[in-house]
Amino acid sequence: MTTRALFPTLLYQGRLSSRKRPSLRERLLREAVQLREDDGAGRIWSRDNYPGGYTSYGSLCRLQDISPTFAALERALDVHARRFARQLAFDLRGKRLAMTDCWVNVMPCGVAHSLHLHPQSVISGTYYVQVPPGSSGIKFEDPRLDRYMAAPPRRARAGGGGTWVTVPATEGKVLLFESWLRHEVPAQRGRGLRVSVSFNYGWF
Ligand code: FE
Repeated sequence: MTTRALFPTLLYQGRLSSRKRPSLRERLLREAVQLREDDGAGRIWSRDNYPGGYTSYGSLCRLQDISPTFAALERALDVHARRFARQLAFDLRGKRLAMTDCWVNVMPCGVAHSLHLHPQSVISGTYYVQVPPGSSGIKFEDPRLDRYMAAPPRRARAGGGGTWVTVPATEGKVLLFESWLRHEVPAQRGRGLRVSVSFNYGWF
């Protein structure tokens, strides 16, 4: 008797290379905090769409094009995205993966980001810039949930399983997933600012 796993959902976890990591992360943190001060349009957008927090998603969503720091992050992330695409066995037909959007998220205590996916993208992900102790992770939903019909609930297992899987946020971690995978950030519990950079890749 054998069982096979069909259509597995892959989650990529990596770190930026140690040569770049400390200084790049510090620069990203400085710029994220500065953007929160300077980006008036983003603060207005966040007031309506990201209560209590700041995101540049609605105002400055291509930071890789306007900041050398975020351009350096893009170059570092490209390596991870290509590696993940190979693991996903993507046949890119001569095209290549390219970062389309890149934005910052600053979450003080109590801020949450509700369940969503990233339409019109292929690979999405997050780089964790600052994660105070006790910070919330990222919670993924089983993509088969809308087809469960009469299936009983599933037990969580080490490394996955269950209907929702929460992955801890860790400073310096790169997380990649396919853009259709729904996820949320539960209310931030850590004291201090949880700062992350989110991004999308398409193929062109
Ligand atoms: Fe997201």
